[in-house]
Amino acid sequence: MVSLNLALSLLLATGTQAFVPAANKPFNSALNAVSKKDTYSVTLLPGDGIGPEITAATKVALEALTTKCGFTIELKEALIGGAAIDEKNDPFPQESLDQCLGSDSVLLACIGGYKWDNNPRELRPESGLLKMRKEMGLFANLRPAKVLPQLIDASTLKREVVEGVDVMVVRELTGDVYFGTPKGIDVIDGQRVGYNNMIYSESEIDRIARVAGDVASKRGGKLCSVDKANVLDVSQLWRDVVTQVITDDFKDVELSHMYVDNAAMQLIRWPKQFDTIVCGNIFGDILSDEASMLVGSLGMLPSASIGESGPGVFEPCHGSAPDIAGEDKANPLAMILSAAMMLKYDLDRPAEAQMLEDAVEAVLDQGIRTPDIKQEGDGCKLVGCKEMGQAVADVVASMALN
Ligand code: NAD
Repeated sequence: MVSLNLALSLLLATGTQAFVPAANKPFNSALNAVSKKDTYSVTLLPGDGIGPEITAATKVALEALTTKCGFTIELKEALIGGAAIDEKNDPFPQESLDQCLGSDSVLLACIGGYKWDNNPRELRPESGLLKMRKEMGLFANLRPAKVLPQLIDASTLKREVVEGVDVMVVRELTGDVYFGTPKGIDVIDGQRVGYNNMIYSESEIDRIARVAGDVASKRGGKLCSVDKANVLDVSQLWRDVVTQVITDDFKDVELSHMYVDNAAMQLIRWPKQFDTIVCGNIFGDILSDEASMLVGSLGMLPSASIGESGPGVFEPCHGSAPDIAGEDKANPLAMILSAAMMLKYDLDRPAEAQMLEDAVEAVLDQGIRTPDIKQEGDGCKLVGCKEMGQAVADVVASMALN
């Protein structure tokens, strides 16, 4: 058996260079794309499937909020995904990218659908999403998993385990073994050998640690860094750099470290021990999906992807749900909660973000449910996507301003 070390040594000896991520300029940890102002420009990307329906519902809720609070968000739509392929033969046309980069923030619904499933890779809706993330330099992904008391029974875990859970996973999005080189499948010593390179530079770890420090300090003040430092050298560097950044520059944040295998267990055993979690790309990919299942419903999960500067992209975690598209059955709350994240993390409007989140909870308190969160015999009122958006808007309109 040829070892991976040997395979890599052979490759390096034959001149294939390991990719070393470039050093970045010092990174300012402040997350907001812009400071608080009276008028914002936001690019809206409705995408495909249920995208246009949840976008319309989110617009209604946002309009109620801006009217109530006396500021303006100019929403301008652009094409992405299958809709962009149909119209421009490109899943993320240059004009969409330019518009996003020129905005204060970007709100995305979802992309994809059966219609484009057999297209060549460059003409698949998902390629548009990857291009957007790359071109906009979105290196940090924020995924909250908050169990709302009204939806506790949607979780597959016991009530006492999930009640009160409010976890944020901060995942590095552009490095690690997914992007490291050398990579490939070669024949070495007469057999195929597959290999990837798990690699992080100090500067890449530093900038994600600063995002996580900032997020944790705006939440419960506790940060758990997840790695595999008992086995991996790259994780030892991760641990060293995270420790230095947080102890030097985030003195209000309590830092702990956990091996990824233990973190996977602890998230299911007692998720309430976590406030903010930070991890590399591959560990974050797995743990953020695991954390989101604590909540139990895909239609309730928002996310944010942010870069070093410029606008972030805020989007629900779910896909385009082609099975229910056009039937007014989609739950718009994940997109409305994504808009709340946009207000908090990009537009410097934390109080307004809180109002939107409170309005969502108030609507659930009123017993209003879309089909995906309705339980048999719960006595709740079944509504469609449109009515759910309007219900959130109505609550916002009736809220008292502080
Ligand atoms: P999906 O998330 O679209 O749907 C999974 C299930 O959840 C479906 O039964 C769907 O009806 C339901 N669902 C999802 N969102 C819902 C909502 N807001 N309200 C009510 N029910 C909801 O995942 P999938 O079926 O695997 O993928 C469908 C398409 O979406 C594919 O083309 C895939 O590539 C794409 N996709 C896009 C994104 C994105 O835009 N970021 C993410 C994942 C998948």
